Order: sequence, then C-alpha cells, then structure tokens
Amino acid sequence: MSRNGKMRVRFAPSPTGALHIGGAHTALFNWLAARHAGGTFILRIEDTDNERSTVEYERTIMDGLEWLGLNWDEGPYRQSEKTGEYAEIADSLIKSGKAYREGGAVLFRVPTGERIIFDDVIYGRISVASEKASVNTDGTVKDIVLIKSDGAPTYNFAVVADDHGMDVTTVIRGEDHIANTPKQILIYRALGWDAPDFAHLPMILGADKKKLSKRHGATSVFEYRDMGYLPESVFNFLALLGWTPGNDVEIFDRTLAVEKFELSKVTKKPAVFDMKKLDFVNREHLKAMDPGARYEAIEPFWREMGFDVGKFPPAYLENALILMGGRGKTTRELAEFSDYFLDFDAVKSRYAAGEITHEHREKLKNCFGEMLWKFSPDNWDAEKLESFARGWCETNGVSLKEIAMPLRFALSGRKVSPGVFEIASLLGRDECKNRLEHFGFAG
Ligand code: GLU
Repeated sequence: MSRNGKMRVRFAPSPTGALHIGGAHTALFNWLAARHAGGTFILRIEDTDNERSTVEYERTIMDGLEWLGLNWDEGPYRQSEKTGEYAEIADSLIKSGKAYREGGAVLFRVPTGERIIFDDVIYGRISVASEKASVNTDGTVKDIVLIKSDGAPTYNFAVVADDHGMDVTTVIRGEDHIANTPKQILIYRALGWDAPDFAHLPMILGADKKKLSKRHGATSVFEYRDMGYLPESVFNFLALLGWTPGNDVEIFDRTLAVEKFELSKVTKKPAVFDMKKLDFVNREHLKAMDPGARYEAIEPFWREMGFDVGKFPPAYLENALILMGGRGKTTRELAEFSDYFLDFDAVKSRYAAGEITHEHREKLKNCFGEMLWKFSPDNWDAEKLESFARGWCETNGVSLKEIAMPLRFALSGRKVSPGVFEIASLLGRDECKNRLEHFGFAG
C-alpha cells in the first residue's frame, strides 16, 4: 500500500481559522514521524465547507507551518479541486448497493452485525460494533452521508478517498477523531481498500484540566510569535505535549527531536498546556542562541517599540544582548528590558529624581567627575571603571553600592540590570556623560 514501504503521513487542516495550538501540535507530530522515518509529509487542505473556508485562512495556516519550520513534501492538495473524484467513488458504492441516493445526497448504508477492530498506535485496541459506529441520538443506526445535497463530500467520506488516494500509511490526528474512525473503516471495507494505521494524539488540556480552548488565552501560533516566543521554543514545547526524548531532556532542537521521535512512545494521557513551562523553554532557547541570531530575533520588537535600530552598529546591539544574559522570558521582554541601550527617552520616562537622595547625588557626582577626568573614551572600559570606583569609595568611606545604585538608575532607569560598569562601558563615555548631566550628576 505504501510507496516503497515508506511512511506517508498528512496534515489535513480545514481552512476555517488560523493555525491554532491543536492544529500545530498535530502538524508537528506528523512532521516528526515523517522526518524520523525518512518518509513523506503531505499537506492537504480540507476545504469542502465552502462557506467557512477561505484562501486567507489557508495562507495563514501555511505561514504558521513555515514559521514553525514544518515543511511539507507534497501539496497543498485541495479537496475542493477534486469533487469529481468523490462523486465517482460514491457512484461505485451505489452500484455495489452499499450506498443510495436520497434527493441530491448520497448515503452509506451502515451494515449491522459487523465488528470494527483497530489497533491505534497510541490508544491501543479499539473495538466497536458496526451498528454503534454511527447512531442517531436515540441510539438507532444512522446511515452516513457521503455526498451532501449541494454535491460536496462530507469529511468522513473525503478523508477516506484521499487517505487512500494519497497512499497515506498512518493517519496521525487529534483524539477528537477517534469516534470518526469506525465510520471511516466501514467505508474502507465497503470499497475493498485497506485502511491505514491510525495514531490519535492525546487531548491537550488547559491549566484547569479542561480541554484547551479560547477561554484559556491565545490560541493561534502567531499570537505566541507576537508575544515573543521563538519558533524553536514553540516547537520544543508542543513536542513535549505527549512525548519526551527521554533521559529527562526537556530542552532540545528539531534535529534531536527527529532523531529520537517514536510515534509508539507518544502517550495517550492528556497533556497539559502549561504557560510556565513554555516560558521556561523559551528562556532556555533564548539563552542558548548565538548573538547574531538573538539580535535577529529581538530586532523586530525594538522596531515595533519605535526605536531607530538602524542607527546602531549591529555589534553594539549584539553586545547589549550578551550583557543581558538570561534576562527576559520572551523576545518581547528582552527587547523591553534592554531599551536603555537604544533610547535615552525610555530612561527619562522611568527616572524619578526623588528616589535618589541628595547625599547619593553628591557622591556620584564627585566620583563620576573624577572618572570623566581620568578616562578617555578609549579607556572607558568596565574593569577600569569598576576598579577606579572601588578605590574612590574606599578613600571616601563610601560603599560601592552608594555609587552603583544611582549610576545604574541614571543610565538605565532600572533598579535591576546587568553590571552597571559594563553598561557604562558599552554606552561609551559621551553617552554616560550626557545621561548623567541630564539628571544633574555631572557637569
Ligand atoms: N480536517 C480535519 C480537521 O481539521 C482533519 C481530520 C483528519 O486528520 O482526519 O479536523
């Protein structure tokens, strides 16, 4: 059934909304399974619902997949382009007496007395009596609509036709489709086709242990991008919803995930979408990025904040980010926390002169005055500044904190920051002088 025995999987979104967390999770597990097995990942757009499907949604789903790095090998195929094929298959079922027309619609006659058994790769054996596969609310057998009166195929029919037609070997999808699977298997049987393997992914729950939904906050992957989560973090985090590479490894990249992924190791236990975990994962990925990549990731956020990024040499901003170290759990936060490297106005707006006592002001003024006198711009380096300040403090019976605290505040407008002499050194002598003069600490 499979082409050269290779795994073929598909992600089959309906383009009726943006790529949301559940869809991205399904796509990711399909992608991992395909890449691990050296198989094929197919993108199929299930756009048979004409009223709700739009090309814009189709585009944003594809953009979302690209953002996550989930490249597909075949497709996008569109069900809307294959209406004729479905009609032909439905006709063959009518000819064999397994389906019938009712008005413009085609219905599948659900057989009784058959047993449907399948071994779900994740959920294990599932066994259903055929008369229970499709039922009315009162429990009586309900024939399955294959083609609606408007000529469009239903989901359960198109999915069978396509998974067969595209030689899909394993159907990997959300557990909400488990109940559809027996119906689909009945249709495979009626057509004399082998059914693929099925792997239903665990349900994703919110922190309150209820099924993840809009109530729990951001649902689309682009909302996470805009909040400042890196694609590699969202990838890592989604992969952990139902799977782990083992050995307590929680932070990994796609290469490791592809290498270790095993569909049969995915758990059916519902997975909890924990924002704190996402924050942790994102922080770790941010920390591990090399300076150039970090700069690329933060830059759009600085721009969005209105900073004239182009005015600074990239090396200056990369160094600022190196100084920021592990601060910030998102790229957005890191962009905010580091604003003082780009914009003195941000400092001014936070600065409240009242927070610094007259005594501290005078001390810093004296110490800084000597620093300006002693160090040229070329010698304005963190170690020299710090050792000078320490010496000055000792001579004048002042603690280093009394100098460092107001200096930090005047340079950054923040009470916590990386080493203040390192900030001073990166800002440079002129900029430090300018900032301190502005607040009356110098000149
Ligand atoms: N279009 C269906 C969905 O978005 C696909 C389900 C499947 O993978 O079979 O839920």
